[in-house]
Amino acid sequence: MRVVLSTRNEHKLRELGEILTGFELVPLPESVELPPENGATFADNALIKARAARAATGLPALADDSGIEARALGGRPGVRSARYAGEGASDEENLRKLIDELRGHEDRAVAYVCALAYIDPGGRELVVHGRCEGTLIDEPRGDGGFGYDPAFVPADTGPEDERTMAELSPDEKHAISHRGRAARELVRALELRP
Ligand code: IMP
Repeated sequence: MRVVLSTRNEHKLRELGEILTGFELVPLPESVELPPENGATFADNALIKARAARAATGLPALADDSGIEARALGGRPGVRSARYAGEGASDEENLRKLIDELRGHEDRAVAYVCALAYIDPGGRELVVHGRCEGTLIDEPRGDGGFGYDPAFVPADTGPEDERTMAELSPDEKHAISHRGRAARELVRALELRP
């Protein structure tokens, strides 16, 4: 089934394409303008994006809203992860700001969070979530993934494995990532639905 993915983020398109192999994900047409992501939660923002893509294309639509939460910062940057260092900030600038803010904090716990909103051919809406726990390191490492991955050491690879998300293969990342978990939850929910 053709499903439009409501994003301008090429990394999300690549990752969700690798994970959701049963869907034919099509990119959002250039002409479609995405509304501001001004929701209070990941789920609100994912729905805002999915509804916009559905309204513009008439296709079933999928949207990912995701980010990183630092426990020592009360969950920041959270929904502001893409623009933590300011509107239009690069991944490197956002990561540098998070590393600077966590400097000196003993509590290094961070978690990736992902909400996926799906609108089916009949217009029914569904939102699922995925979460991935980890710790933030000061010296980024690795070329894979994107965003905060070079400083995110996931807990699920075990205490002996100090690789960052950016040092895992794509399949290793998807097996434990917030996005992989949310996508598998979506598939399960759709299979169970009447
Ligand atoms: P969104 O477009 O508002 O959902 O922005 C999500 C932001 O969260 C991205 O720009 C990244 O900074 C961060 N993020 C989300 N998922 C990941 C991931 O898998 N790895 C690293 N950073 C991520």
